Amino acid sequence: MTYKITSKCISCKLCLSACPTGAVKIVDGRHWIDPNLCTNCDNTTYSVPQCAAGCPTCDGCVKERGDYWESWFTTYNKLITKLTKKEEYWDNWFNLYSQKFSEQIQKRQTSKV
Ligand code: SF4
Ligand code: SF4
Repeated sequence: MTYKITSKCISCKLCLSACPTGAVKIVDGRHWIDPNLCTNCDNTTYSVPQCAAGCPTCDGCVKERGDYWESWFTTYNKLITKLTKKEEYWDNWFNLYSQKFSEQIQKRQTSKV
């Protein structure tokens, strides 16, 4: 679900320049978010949606209400991605640790001989 502009908008134009994808437009004198361009600011350098973050009315730019199961699966997929990456992290950590540990043991055994 993308962001949309509500009737609380006071046309300050802040979101127009803040949007990294150029999704905010003025149509018939009113601000409007193109749902085909809005990415919710995902995959950008921003950690929060820029239109909502800068809006002086606090509820001028809001996230459209999504379907319950759609948002459930979105959250589920995000968590699974994080867990998968973590699994790789600990696998790599364990491999490196065991390699270094066995190198140290070999060094000690060699120095004793
Ligand atoms: S930042 Fe908020 S008040 Fe300003 S134009 Fe955008 S939606 Fe309207
Ligand atoms: S959520 Fe991000 S991409 Fe979407 S309209 Fe707002 S600033 Fe633009």
